[in-house]
Amino acid sequence: MQNTKHQRIVVLTGAGISAESGINTFRDSGGLWENHRLEDVATPEAFERNPELVQRFYNARRAQLNDVKPNPAHIALAEFEAAFAGEFLLVTQNVDHLHSLAGSNKLIHMHGELLKSRCIHTDKIHSQTSDITEHSHCECCQQPGLRPHIVWFGEMPLFMDEIYQALENCDLFISIGTSGNVYPAAGFVEVANSVGARTIEINLEPSNGAAAFKEAIHGPASIEVSAFLSSL
Ligand code: NAD
Repeated sequence: MQNTKHQRIVVLTGAGISAESGINTFRDSGGLWENHRLEDVATPEAFERNPELVQRFYNARRAQLNDVKPNPAHIALAEFEAAFAGEFLLVTQNVDHLHSLAGSNKLIHMHGELLKSRCIHTDKIHSQTSDITEHSHCECCQQPGLRPHIVWFGEMPLFMDEIYQALENCDLFISIGTSGNVYPAAGFVEVANSVGARTIEINLEPSNGAAAFKEAIHGPASIEVSAFLSSL
Protein backbone atom coordinates (compact mmCIF):
# COMPACT_ATOMS: atom_id res chain seq x y z
CA MET A 1 0.00 0.00 0.00
CA GLN A 2 1.13 3.56 -0.75
CA ASN A 3 2.19 5.16 2.54
CA THR A 4 1.38 8.89 2.45
CA LYS A 5 0.12 11.41 4.96
CA HIS A 6 -2.49 12.47 2.43
CA GLN A 7 -5.86 10.74 2.47
CA ARG A 8 -7.97 12.52 -0.15
CA ILE A 9 -6.23 13.38 -3.40
CA VAL A 10 -7.60 15.13 -6.48
CA VAL A 11 -5.50 15.29 -9.64
CA LEU A 12 -6.31 17.55 -12.60
CA THR A 13 -4.63 16.87 -15.93
CA GLY A 14 -4.52 18.83 -19.17
CA ALA A 15 -3.11 18.50 -22.66
CA GLY A 16 0.49 18.69 -21.36
CA ILE A 17 0.32 15.20 -19.86
CA SER A 18 -0.40 13.71 -23.29
CA ALA A 19 2.18 15.82 -25.16
CA GLU A 20 4.93 13.24 -24.75
CA SER A 21 2.57 10.60 -26.15
CA GLY A 22 2.52 12.63 -29.36
CA ILE A 23 -0.74 14.60 -28.98
CA ASN A 24 -0.23 18.32 -29.50
CA THR A 25 -1.26 20.84 -26.85
CA PHE A 26 -2.61 24.29 -27.71
CA ARG A 27 0.68 25.83 -26.64
CA ASP A 28 2.71 23.64 -29.04
CA SER A 29 0.74 25.11 -31.88
CA GLY A 30 0.71 28.75 -30.78
CA GLY A 31 -2.79 28.77 -29.34
CA LEU A 32 -4.25 26.85 -32.27
CA TRP A 33 -5.54 23.31 -31.99
CA GLU A 34 -3.89 21.34 -34.83
CA ASN A 35 -3.82 24.51 -36.98
CA HIS A 36 -7.43 25.43 -36.30
CA ARG A 37 -8.81 28.37 -34.37
CA LEU A 38 -10.95 27.23 -31.46
CA GLU A 39 -13.85 29.35 -32.74
CA ASP A 40 -13.83 27.30 -35.94
CA VAL A 41 -13.91 23.81 -34.44
CA ALA A 42 -14.69 23.86 -30.73
CA THR A 43 -17.89 25.85 -30.25
CA PRO A 44 -21.58 25.02 -30.78
CA GLU A 45 -21.71 27.94 -33.24
CA ALA A 46 -18.93 26.39 -35.32
CA PHE A 47 -20.88 23.12 -35.47
CA GLU A 48 -23.99 24.97 -36.62
CA ARG A 49 -22.06 26.95 -39.21
CA ASN A 50 -19.91 24.18 -40.63
CA PRO A 51 -20.71 20.72 -39.27
CA GLU A 52 -18.53 18.98 -41.89
CA LEU A 53 -15.41 20.86 -40.80
CA VAL A 54 -16.07 20.18 -37.12
CA GLN A 55 -16.75 16.46 -37.71
CA ARG A 56 -13.62 16.19 -39.88
CA PHE A 57 -11.56 17.84 -37.17
CA TYR A 58 -12.75 15.45 -34.44
CA ASN A 59 -12.62 12.44 -36.79
CA ALA A 60 -8.92 13.20 -37.27
CA ARG A 61 -8.35 13.59 -33.52
CA ARG A 62 -10.19 10.28 -32.92
CA ALA A 63 -8.20 8.46 -35.65
CA GLN A 64 -4.95 9.69 -34.08
CA LEU A 65 -5.78 7.72 -30.94
CA ASN A 66 -4.92 4.52 -32.86
CA ASP A 67 -1.28 5.65 -32.97
CA VAL A 68 -0.66 6.85 -29.42
CA LYS A 69 -0.05 5.15 -26.12
CA PRO A 70 0.16 6.21 -22.48
CA ASN A 71 3.49 7.67 -21.36
CA PRO A 72 5.16 7.22 -17.94
CA ALA A 73 3.05 10.04 -16.43
CA HIS A 74 -0.28 8.35 -17.25
CA ILE A 75 1.11 5.05 -16.00
CA ALA A 76 2.49 6.52 -12.76
CA LEU A 77 -0.94 7.98 -11.90
CA ALA A 78 -2.69 4.65 -12.54
CA GLU A 79 -0.13 2.73 -10.49
CA PHE A 80 -0.32 5.24 -7.66
CA GLU A 81 -4.11 5.00 -7.57
CA ALA A 82 -4.00 1.19 -7.48
CA ALA A 83 -1.67 1.26 -4.48
CA PHE A 84 -3.36 4.12 -2.60
CA ALA A 85 -5.68 3.31 0.29
CA GLY A 86 -7.32 6.76 0.54
CA GLU A 87 -9.76 8.57 -1.71
CA PHE A 88 -8.45 9.40 -5.16
CA LEU A 89 -10.06 11.21 -8.08
CA LEU A 90 -8.45 11.95 -11.43
CA VAL A 91 -10.16 14.73 -13.39
CA THR A 92 -8.93 15.24 -16.92
CA GLN A 93 -9.62 18.02 -19.37
CA ASN A 94 -8.26 15.77 -22.08
CA VAL A 95 -10.53 14.11 -24.56
CA ASP A 96 -8.07 11.34 -25.41
CA HIS A 97 -8.30 7.89 -23.78
CA LEU A 98 -4.73 7.64 -22.45
CA HIS A 99 -5.64 7.66 -18.74
CA SER A 100 -8.12 4.83 -19.32
CA LEU A 101 -5.56 2.87 -21.34
CA ALA A 102 -3.03 3.29 -18.53
CA GLY A 103 -5.55 1.75 -16.12
CA SER A 104 -6.83 4.75 -14.15
CA ASN A 105 -10.05 3.84 -12.43
CA LYS A 106 -11.69 6.81 -10.67
CA LEU A 107 -11.54 9.06 -13.70
CA ILE A 108 -13.73 11.94 -14.86
CA HIS A 109 -13.48 13.29 -18.40
CA MET A 110 -14.85 16.76 -17.67
CA HIS A 111 -14.58 17.89 -21.31
CA GLY A 112 -15.98 14.71 -22.86
CA GLU A 113 -14.33 11.90 -24.82
CA LEU A 114 -13.32 11.44 -28.43
CA LEU A 115 -14.36 7.79 -28.27
CA LYS A 116 -17.96 8.73 -27.56
CA SER A 117 -20.67 10.45 -29.58
CA ARG A 118 -23.93 12.04 -28.52
CA CYS A 119 -27.30 12.03 -30.28
CA ILE A 120 -28.50 15.59 -30.80
CA HIS A 121 -32.13 14.41 -30.64
CA THR A 122 -32.05 12.34 -27.44
CA ASP A 123 -28.75 13.34 -25.76
CA LYS A 124 -27.94 9.63 -25.45
CA ILE A 125 -24.23 8.82 -25.43
CA HIS A 126 -22.78 6.08 -27.62
CA SER A 127 -19.36 4.57 -28.00
CA GLN A 128 -17.68 5.86 -31.17
CA THR A 129 -14.53 4.43 -32.70
CA SER A 130 -15.10 5.31 -36.36
CA ASP A 131 -15.65 8.61 -38.19
CA ILE A 132 -18.92 10.50 -37.74
CA THR A 133 -20.38 11.76 -41.03
CA GLU A 134 -23.59 13.49 -41.99
CA HIS A 135 -24.96 10.02 -42.78
CA SER A 136 -24.05 8.41 -39.44
CA HIS A 137 -27.20 7.11 -37.74
CA CYS A 138 -27.39 6.88 -33.97
CA GLU A 139 -28.40 3.62 -32.32
CA CYS A 140 -31.14 5.31 -30.32
CA CYS A 141 -33.37 6.95 -32.91
CA GLN A 142 -31.94 5.58 -36.16
CA GLN A 143 -31.53 8.90 -37.89
CA PRO A 144 -28.62 11.22 -38.65
CA GLY A 145 -27.71 13.56 -35.81
CA LEU A 146 -24.55 12.41 -34.04
CA ARG A 147 -22.10 14.93 -32.65
CA PRO A 148 -18.78 14.35 -30.90
CA HIS A 149 -19.26 13.90 -27.13
CA ILE A 150 -17.01 16.89 -26.49
CA VAL A 151 -17.71 19.88 -24.26
CA TRP A 152 -17.23 22.83 -26.55
CA PHE A 153 -16.36 26.34 -25.39
CA GLY A 154 -19.52 27.89 -24.01
CA GLU A 155 -20.95 24.51 -22.92
CA MET A 156 -21.14 23.19 -19.36
CA PRO A 157 -18.34 20.78 -18.35
CA LEU A 158 -19.46 17.37 -17.11
CA PHE A 159 -19.73 15.95 -13.56
CA MET A 160 -19.11 19.32 -11.88
CA ASP A 161 -20.97 18.37 -8.66
CA GLU A 162 -18.76 15.31 -8.14
CA ILE A 163 -15.63 17.31 -8.92
CA TYR A 164 -16.42 20.16 -6.51
CA GLN A 165 -17.38 17.69 -3.79
CA ALA A 166 -14.00 15.98 -4.11
CA LEU A 167 -12.15 19.32 -4.21
CA GLU A 168 -13.95 20.56 -1.11
CA ASN A 169 -12.77 17.47 0.76
CA CYS A 170 -9.26 17.03 -0.60
CA ASP A 171 -6.01 17.41 1.32
CA LEU A 172 -3.79 17.31 -1.80
CA PHE A 173 -4.53 18.82 -5.21
CA ILE A 174 -2.10 18.16 -8.06
CA SER A 175 -2.44 19.96 -11.41
CA ILE A 176 -0.46 18.45 -14.28
CA GLY A 177 0.17 19.80 -17.79
CA THR A 178 -2.49 22.46 -17.92
CA SER A 179 -2.02 26.08 -18.95
CA GLY A 180 -4.61 27.48 -16.52
CA ASN A 181 -6.41 29.27 -19.35
CA VAL A 182 -9.63 27.26 -19.44
CA TYR A 183 -12.27 27.76 -16.73
CA PRO A 184 -13.75 26.28 -14.60
CA ALA A 185 -10.76 23.89 -14.35
CA ALA A 186 -8.36 26.80 -13.88
CA GLY A 187 -10.27 27.74 -10.70
CA PHE A 188 -10.04 24.30 -9.02
CA VAL A 189 -6.82 25.26 -7.22
CA GLU A 190 -8.65 28.08 -5.41
CA VAL A 191 -11.26 25.63 -4.10
CA ALA A 192 -8.52 23.29 -2.85
CA ASN A 193 -6.68 26.24 -1.25
CA SER A 194 -9.87 27.36 0.47
CA VAL A 195 -10.09 24.05 2.35
CA GLY A 196 -6.41 24.15 3.33
CA ALA A 197 -5.21 21.47 0.93
CA ARG A 198 -1.62 21.19 -0.23
CA THR A 199 -1.65 22.41 -3.85
CA ILE A 200 1.04 21.70 -6.41
CA GLU A 201 1.48 22.35 -10.09
CA ILE A 202 3.58 20.06 -12.30
CA ASN A 203 4.09 21.73 -15.67
CA LEU A 204 6.79 22.34 -18.24
CA GLU A 205 6.73 26.04 -17.32
CA PRO A 206 4.82 28.21 -14.82
CA SER A 207 1.20 28.21 -15.97
CA ASN A 208 -1.04 31.27 -16.06
CA GLY A 209 -2.42 30.22 -12.70
CA ALA A 210 0.97 29.41 -11.15
CA ALA A 211 0.72 32.04 -8.41
CA ALA A 212 -2.27 30.23 -6.86
CA PHE A 213 -0.30 27.04 -6.13
CA LYS A 214 1.64 26.58 -2.89
CA GLU A 215 4.29 24.47 -4.65
CA ALA A 216 5.50 23.95 -8.21
CA ILE A 217 7.64 21.49 -10.12
CA HIS A 218 8.70 22.52 -13.61
CA GLY A 219 9.72 19.83 -16.05
CA PRO A 220 8.32 17.16 -18.35
CA ALA A 221 5.38 15.21 -16.94
CA SER A 222 6.90 11.88 -18.03
CA ILE A 223 9.67 12.38 -15.45
CA GLU A 224 8.23 14.69 -12.80
CA VAL A 225 4.90 12.96 -12.13
CA SER A 226 6.32 9.62 -11.05
CA ALA A 227 9.13 11.36 -9.12
CA PHE A 228 6.60 13.44 -7.18
CA LEU A 229 4.21 10.55 -6.53
CA SER A 230 7.11 8.43 -5.25
CA SER A 231 7.95 11.21 -2.79
CA LEU A 232 4.54 11.05 -1.11
P1 NAD B 1 -3.00 23.79 -23.04
O1 NAD B 1 -2.57 23.29 -24.36
O2 NAD B 1 -3.64 25.11 -22.94
O3 NAD B 1 -1.72 23.82 -22.08
C1 NAD B 1 -0.87 22.71 -21.95
C2 NAD B 1 0.14 22.99 -20.85
O4 NAD B 1 0.96 21.84 -20.73
C3 NAD B 1 1.07 24.18 -21.14
O5 NAD B 1 1.13 25.03 -20.00
C4 NAD B 1 2.42 23.53 -21.41
O6 NAD B 1 3.52 24.29 -20.92
C5 NAD B 1 2.31 22.24 -20.63
N1 NAD B 1 3.12 21.14 -21.18
C6 NAD B 1 3.42 20.88 -22.48
N2 NAD B 1 4.15 19.78 -22.58
C7 NAD B 1 4.32 19.31 -21.32
C8 NAD B 1 5.00 18.21 -20.76
N3 NAD B 1 5.66 17.33 -21.53
N4 NAD B 1 4.98 18.02 -19.42
C9 NAD B 1 4.33 18.91 -18.62
N5 NAD B 1 3.66 19.98 -19.08
C10 NAD B 1 3.66 20.18 -20.42
O7 NAD B 1 -3.89 22.64 -22.41
P2 NAD B 1 -5.10 22.63 -21.35
O8 NAD B 1 -4.78 23.54 -20.21
O9 NAD B 1 -5.41 21.20 -21.09
O10 NAD B 1 -6.34 23.28 -22.12
C11 NAD B 1 -6.60 22.83 -23.39
C12 NAD B 1 -8.01 22.35 -23.68
O11 NAD B 1 -7.91 21.73 -24.97
C13 NAD B 1 -8.54 21.28 -22.78
O12 NAD B 1 -9.82 21.64 -22.47
C14 NAD B 1 -8.56 19.99 -23.60
O13 NAD B 1 -9.85 19.41 -23.61
C15 NAD B 1 -8.29 20.39 -25.02
N6 NAD B 1 -7.18 19.61 -25.63
C16 NAD B 1 -7.10 18.28 -25.35
C17 NAD B 1 -6.06 17.51 -25.84
C18 NAD B 1 -6.01 16.03 -25.48
O14 NAD B 1 -7.07 15.45 -25.22
N7 NAD B 1 -4.84 15.41 -25.41
C19 NAD B 1 -5.08 18.12 -26.65
C20 NAD B 1 -5.19 19.51 -26.95
C21 NAD B 1 -6.26 20.24 -26.42
